[in-house]
Amino acid sequence: MKNKNVLISGAGIAGLTLAYWLKKYGFCPTIVEKHPSLRTGGYKIDLRGVALDVLKRMGIYSAIMESRTAITQAICIDPAGNQIAQMGADLCGTRLEGVDLEIMRGTLCVIMQEAVGDIEYLFGDVITHISENPSGVHVEFEKNNPRTFDLVIGADGLHSSVRRLVFGEESLFSQDLGVYVSVFSFSNFLQLTDCEIEHHAFRKFVNLYRDRKDIQAKAALAFSVDKPFHSCDPKDQQKFIEEVFAGSGWEMPRILAEMKDSPDFYFDSMAQIHMPHWSKGRVSLVGDAAYSATPLSGQGTSIAIAGAYVLAGELAYAQGDCQRAFFRYEELVRPFAKQNQALANMSAKIMSGSSYSVWLHRIGALLPGSVVRYFKNKALKETTNAANALTLKEY
Ligand SMILES: Cc1cc2nc3c(=O)[nH]c(=O)nc-3n(C[C@H](O)[C@H](O)[C@H](O)COP(=O)(O)OP(=O)(O)OC[C@H]3O[C@@H](n4cnc5c(N)ncnc54)[C@H](O)[C@@H]3O)c2cc1C
Repeated sequence: MKNKNVLISGAGIAGLTLAYWLKKYGFCPTIVEKHPSLRTGGYKIDLRGVALDVLKRMGIYSAIMESRTAITQAICIDPAGNQIAQMGADLCGTRLEGVDLEIMRGTLCVIMQEAVGDIEYLFGDVITHISENPSGVHVEFEKNNPRTFDLVIGADGLHSSVRRLVFGEESLFSQDLGVYVSVFSFSNFLQLTDCEIEHHAFRKFVNLYRDRKDIQAKAALAFSVDKPFHSCDPKDQQKFIEEVFAGSGWEMPRILAEMKDSPDFYFDSMAQIHMPHWSKGRVSLVGDAAYSATPLSGQGTSIAIAGAYVLAGELAYAQGDCQRAFFRYEELVRPFAKQNQALANMSAKIMSGSSYSVWLHRIGALLPGSVVRYFKNKALKETTNAANALTLKEY
């Protein structure tokens, strides 16, 4: 097989899915991952539509079913903590009941890595330089010695370094939705079991849950503000969150106090990636690196899985003609990714602070449960359509 040695940057969902399929088709994938080991922490993610078919074809669907979260119920509360709506966790998470799945991101990565089996990993390293020459793609690393690969694929997430090195600065392709997200563990003083809690306020959203094996609970916050915030320092980020949620009632002061000691504090702005092309020469991108949809779409993981399946399949089908494979990959996945990226628009509008969100917040105060249900059902229909908007080929 020509173009046999493939370097994948990132051992996340897209990188592991790609490695699985490339190995299956006879390629030799190597993964370079920034973290010293597989990143197993994180938040809960949804799996829907064609991504579920890919997972079935990988033979890991039943392992995922067994390890999915055990959250079955959801309640929505008002600022004082009073219940305003109750529903199944699937409707709350915009999942088709009995079809779509919810799993912790880290658990999915572990299952995927097991399925990939024996391949070369370069943990704790990053690519620092990429250049093409007649014999392949010359890659320099921060720690390992330089090497030449036949192909390089960036599956290194929203802030992809492969994208920066080959296609240009992130700002060229990144569209900020004006919404920030933070996830962190806190002590399960709310005694959460199989019921998650959601709270929707003007420009703020809070989701609290605990998965079956976890001692701690997780808080996921999303919010928008008028003035952009830029700091990579977790202390500044936590101060910013405290300011945004200052004055919040119920148990929020305690949750925010615990945020400071949380071992896994995560913060980022929600940004989508829109690029005219995902491939250049012998380098291509997949997952968030190419077409981040943001957590607001609920589809980032599923489109990463489906995209990686198609990319590997087209590389195998093209038998060494990577230009043809990259062209087909983009042709098939781009409309699908675009439709799923659009799912984030409504949530971003609701969170934006626009006159629409002010109006919605007022209606929500009068009819809280009905408004939540209306939007959940609307989102479920649109998400299900988008999640299935790709026909998977057998390669
Ligand atoms: C709070 C939150 C909730 C979410 N909820 C959902 C949801 O419900 N449903 C859903 O479908 N999606 C959800 N997502 C989005 C989802 O996590 C991503 O879209 C999905 O993981 C994309 O996979 P990926 O492999 O492209 O990127 P990632 O999962 O980000 O993986 C990238 C990998 O590359 C590594 N890496 C980064 N930089 C480098 C580098 N320079 N060199 C080498 N390695 C590097 C990272 O350590 C990581 O292992 C959520 C995201 C967040 C933050």
